Amino acid sequence: MADTRTLAAEVLHTARAMNASGINRGTAGNVSARREERGGFLITPSGMAYEESSAEDIVTVGMDGHWQGARKPSSEWRFHRDIYAAKSRVGAVVHTHSAFATALACMGCDIPPFHYMIARFGGKDVRCASYATFGTQELSDAALLALQDRSACLLAHHGMIVCGSDLKQALALAVELETLCEQYWRVLQIGAPKLLPDEEMERVLEKFSGYGQQ
Ligand code: 13P
Ligand code: ZN
Repeated sequence: MADTRTLAAEVLHTARAMNASGINRGTAGNVSARREERGGFLITPSGMAYEESSAEDIVTVGMDGHWQGARKPSSEWRFHRDIYAAKSRVGAVVHTHSAFATALACMGCDIPPFHYMIARFGGKDVRCASYATFGTQELSDAALLALQDRSACLLAHHGMIVCGSDLKQALALAVELETLCEQYWRVLQIGAPKLLPDEEMERVLEKFSGYGQQ
């Protein structure tokens, strides 16, 4: 199990990889990882360029919202904290303002089952949380509602949140969700897509429960 210093380096590495992959730009977005043994979580600092940050800039935040360290935590520490409190199997959270997810989020629409991969995120759609000002408890409450039985959601007029068992999985899922959002956006240029029926999505959800190397 990673100690705090190693985990801080991994959080920073993931934030840099998030930007390098093209799903986020500048200081938008944020990344966190649960501290298994000592409690709380580690999160990127607010408003700092990831390339110019070091592992010492990563902030430790307790579940009571208190933080330690030289830097202020991401302004979105509340939804990171509330996700760890609500979902015991989540080990990492990635939040990005990726282009296609954000474009769809600005339309305030849930992503329907136009493609079977929607089931990758736990259900028959990926919901869009209602709008609330960034960094507020109201935004966290809206996000948690949209994340019920799901590992991802859009945030209206803002971006997306993805939860994973660890940092690597959370980032990989964020790239998958952005890919789906791009596909859905392209489909919408052609017209209204046919959606997969409920029974098929149930079958896919069942298959995903045993998919991959487990
Ligand atoms: P932070 O730099 O405070 O993490 O804010 C970025 C962001 O995406 C706010 O929603
Ligand atoms: Zn944001």
